[in-house]
Amino acid sequence: MLSHDAVRELERIVSPPHFIGDSDELKRRTRNTLGLERRALGIICPETEEQVQAIVRAANHHRFSIYAYSTAKNIGYGERLPVTDDNLIVDLGRMNKIVQLDSELGFVDVQPGVTQGQLSDYVRAREIPFFIDATGAGRDSSIVGNSAEGGFGTTPRGNKRKEITCVRGIYGNGERFDSGYFPGSIGPDLAGLFVQSNFGIITQLRIPLNRATEGYRSFMINLHEESDLVALLEVLRELGQTRTLTSQVIVVNALDILGASRVEIPSAYANKSITNAVAAEIMGSPLASFGPFLSVGSVHGSRGEVRAKCRTIRRVLRGRLGGRADVRFMTDRSLGFLLGLLSSWPFSKIGATTRLAGPLRSFSEAHGMMQGIASDDAVIGLFGAVKDTYDDIRLMWYSSHVPARLKDVAHFVEAASSCYRRHGFEYPLEMLMVTPNDIIAIQKVDWQKGDEEQEKRARALYKALAEELVEAGYPPYRLGVQSQQRARYRDGRPWTLETLKKSFDPNGVIAPGRYGIDLAMSD
Ligand SMILES: Cc1cc2nc3c(=O)[nH]c(=O)nc-3n(C[C@H](O)[C@H](O)[C@H](O)COP(=O)(O)OP(=O)(O)OC[C@H]3O[C@@H](n4cnc5c(N)ncnc54)[C@H](O)[C@@H]3O)c2cc1C
Repeated sequence: MLSHDAVRELERIVSPPHFIGDSDELKRRTRNTLGLERRALGIICPETEEQVQAIVRAANHHRFSIYAYSTAKNIGYGERLPVTDDNLIVDLGRMNKIVQLDSELGFVDVQPGVTQGQLSDYVRAREIPFFIDATGAGRDSSIVGNSAEGGFGTTPRGNKRKEITCVRGIYGNGERFDSGYFPGSIGPDLAGLFVQSNFGIITQLRIPLNRATEGYRSFMINLHEESDLVALLEVLRELGQTRTLTSQVIVVNALDILGASRVEIPSAYANKSITNAVAAEIMGSPLASFGPFLSVGSVHGSRGEVRAKCRTIRRVLRGRLGGRADVRFMTDRSLGFLLGLLSSWPFSKIGATTRLAGPLRSFSEAHGMMQGIASDDAVIGLFGAVKDTYDDIRLMWYSSHVPARLKDVAHFVEAASSCYRRHGFEYPLEMLMVTPNDIIAIQKVDWQKGDEEQEKRARALYKALAEELVEAGYPPYRLGVQSQQRARYRDGRPWTLETLKKSFDPNGVIAPGRYGIDLAMSD
């Protein structure tokens, strides 16, 4: 519990409505899809960097821990849940200013509470030749929180860890930091220090925008044979390495799409186990078959470049996979035309076309997202509606890094799917090729709230994935809060991280346990 003096000091920093100490309200706000609880000291909502600094100083003075978030949409990884008990939660949502938009150089400086929906609308309204990087996490998620987690968006500038600069804020010792801009400064670039760490609280950062190009097409590759997954990834890797593809490409199986789409499962399948083949059957329609795997990505450049790139994609795919894969390219116009057609009479009344319209609408949202139009579609697809917390859903992501070598992909898929099978679940494969050489595999572990038997199996599955995939050579790329305290580092990293922690946050007040970084790691 916070001491009386600490509460008085916090209430001097922000006025009482912005400090919540009521335990029922704290419980309500920290509900999450992991189904876990933590004891919290309160929630405080500062509005300025000075207030954040005063909170950090108070934490040092009164010796309590603080856990900051930006918009708390870390759904499936913890939302508002801190890593440990007894933190004062710092909600940075009120710090929601777009501090600067440079429409000549194409960058923005944003505070933590700026959401991707807000930024997307702001940039689009100015009709400048730039667009933001958008993730699938919904319009209410943030740029800063996504960056603090090392997230990935869907556009050519999607690798947040690599893109952020001018990261500023308050270290755990109460001093200000500014990571600098390079080559506009000298000395080391410190921006990466604030990703997946607990050295300080970020109050602002700079993120570049994508330059809009004259040409743009999204694509959808439908793979017909399950056994061709590795060959498809080889094609995508080559297209990435030759810069035909410059943004993230996603590869998913039919089961994953079914779980994230609003397609109703026909009663004929009610008592069947939904394998990937069954999911492909359900997703298909007499007008368009659906294969076991689907890949979605985008092509950017001048009109001529885009046409040439599309020809290359088609040629390489045909050369490597023959008729076992087909690709469709979409422009804003062709997609708009198709959607209009499917929603017009008589097509809107025919079962086969209405079945096609749902997935096409989702594809259209992805088509927009890859051009910087933030969308709630993926969140709604998974959860049915956008909410403040997702306590009614039970979901944990386990995310792994897989090198894009063919033998690694095959080995990884075998290891992960065997884990799922052994625990009585089918494998919803979702792979993001975030660079030509790097795949992030997002493993969804979900269960029905209240089904204890299923929950037990799901938690055992998560544990097995964490142990067996690491053992097989595939480390996590990111962790949910429930696993962060157990994060382990090798090769001199514990000493380095411990030394940095002691120097920037000597009393260990910031986010104890976050990504396993603390004051005593080297033993
Ligand atoms: C349907 C769906 C789709 C998703 N798609 C994507 C995707 O495409 N790409 C992706 O990367 N993720 C994705 N996610 C995961 C997640 O929702 C996003 O990463 C989201 O951006 C994180 O939420 P947030 O931005 O509100 O960050 P927050 O929840 O605010 O922050 C995340 C964590 O970062 C730290 N942190 C946040 N702000 C600060 C700060 N100012 N100072 C210090 N530390 C801070 C805290 O530890 C916090 O818990 C998806 C999730 C779902 C459910």
